[in-house]
Amino acid sequence: MKKIAIAGTGYVGLVTGVCLAEIGHDVICVDRDPQKINTLLKGEATFYEPGLEELMKNNLEAGRLIFTTSPTIGYQDADIIMITVGTPNDPNGSLDLQYIEQISKEIGRTITRNNILIVTKSTVPLGTNEKIKEWIQSELRSPLYFHLAANPEFLRQGAAVYDTFHGDRIIIGSDSKEALHTLEELYKPLHIPIIKTDTKSAELIKIASNSFLALKISYVNALSSICEQIGGNIEEVTLGMGMDARIGTSFLNAGVGFGGSCLPKDTKEVTHLANEVGEPIRLLDEVLEINKRQELRLIDKALARFKSLKGKKAALLGLSFKPNTDDVRESVSIKMAKRLVMEGAIVTAYDPVAIRNAKRELGEIISYSDTLEQALMNADLAFIGTEWEEIKNIPITMFSEWMTEPVIFDGRNCFQLDAMKGFPIEYHSIGRPCVIGKENIIKTFGLGLG
Ligand code: NAD
Repeated sequence: MKKIAIAGTGYVGLVTGVCLAEIGHDVICVDRDPQKINTLLKGEATFYEPGLEELMKNNLEAGRLIFTTSPTIGYQDADIIMITVGTPNDPNGSLDLQYIEQISKEIGRTITRNNILIVTKSTVPLGTNEKIKEWIQSELRSPLYFHLAANPEFLRQGAAVYDTFHGDRIIIGSDSKEALHTLEELYKPLHIPIIKTDTKSAELIKIASNSFLALKISYVNALSSICEQIGGNIEEVTLGMGMDARIGTSFLNAGVGFGGSCLPKDTKEVTHLANEVGEPIRLLDEVLEINKRQELRLIDKALARFKSLKGKKAALLGLSFKPNTDDVRESVSIKMAKRLVMEGAIVTAYDPVAIRNAKRELGEIISYSDTLEQALMNADLAFIGTEWEEIKNIPITMFSEWMTEPVIFDGRNCFQLDAMKGFPIEYHSIGRPCVIGKENIIKTFGLGLG
């Protein structure tokens, strides 16, 4: 069993550390944020992720998992150090490497043994592992030999523990045979296909995968706008498309666009890289542009329907960027909330777990409720931004019973059109006909709804 240090204990670092402890390794998670470490030491996860806290507690109790703010305690005895700090976009659209540089230098200052393996799990621009090597070397107190590998992370927030144990693939890229072998042995117990590549290919696989997923989403969203104009139904279109095994059904859901800390920034990174090497991919500029248009599409629909939202009571259902997480980074719901407030609506939001994080972004410009009922009670409009199971399972009668004027704008196509037909509500969704009243489907669509 290995001694593993996790450098940066955020979404990726904590899940990785806990899961590696679960398969028997001695893991020490380092973070520079003392508040985070104190919370973790109490056995409380610092964010919501299904199954994580229980697994974390078990491994803390078993003594396989330690948390510290000290780089020295964290890195000096480690066989493997995994870098999992954040890489947000910088103003040029590239990934900001300031945290990677800081942590690499801290690692350089604290390691004292030869043959340590340093693994980059953070999503980084091409060539970053070479820079990491230089940054570490620049701070070494005496000449040391260490190995480097790129091992990009593919976990999905909301299913991160599951994905760590059941992912589609593990990518390891390195120019060191020893590094590839060590990582292969480390991951063997997970029985996940392992792809070994050179370092730059591994770096590229990550951002290429995320930008391709973004492309799929934006393509379907662009088609959904066509459906709204011609009177088609995007769900039937994507069902027909997805039956073609070459296309597949996943990531073909129309909605108000993608958010989160990965898809937008990784897509920007590919466009930035493509421009830098003189091989521009304008297609990806359009992917981002479509997503931007899509984010406020529901509000545009509501404005087309009501002319003004001033003084309207709006329930906003779901605040996280996707279900099963409390992460609101780049969440479309947050953008919707801001725009609704700008339009003069009085907004009350509900989310099962993301209210605390949403408050940091939105403060008191909207109200928050602890229950769906409280959010919907006496509302004129309801906007659905996140497809939480709890939201998808609201009995449809609740909309008509609780709301004053039950007009629903569903950004995640949570409800079947047929199910809506029998209720006295007005239901607008993405790329599908609008349902009005008990049994009438109005044959006008989208923005031009009468
Ligand atoms: P995060 O912001 O949740 O976590 C980063 C952590 O690093 C924070 O806790 C921060 O305090 C800590 N940190 C920063 N500098 C430090 C230092 N010098 N020493 C110790 N700790 C330090 O980020 P995240 O969402 O976990 O993402 C991490 C990386 O993984 C990013 O590159 C991201 O693109 C990539 N990634 C994220 C996901 C995801 O779903 N969140 C999935 C795949 C890949």
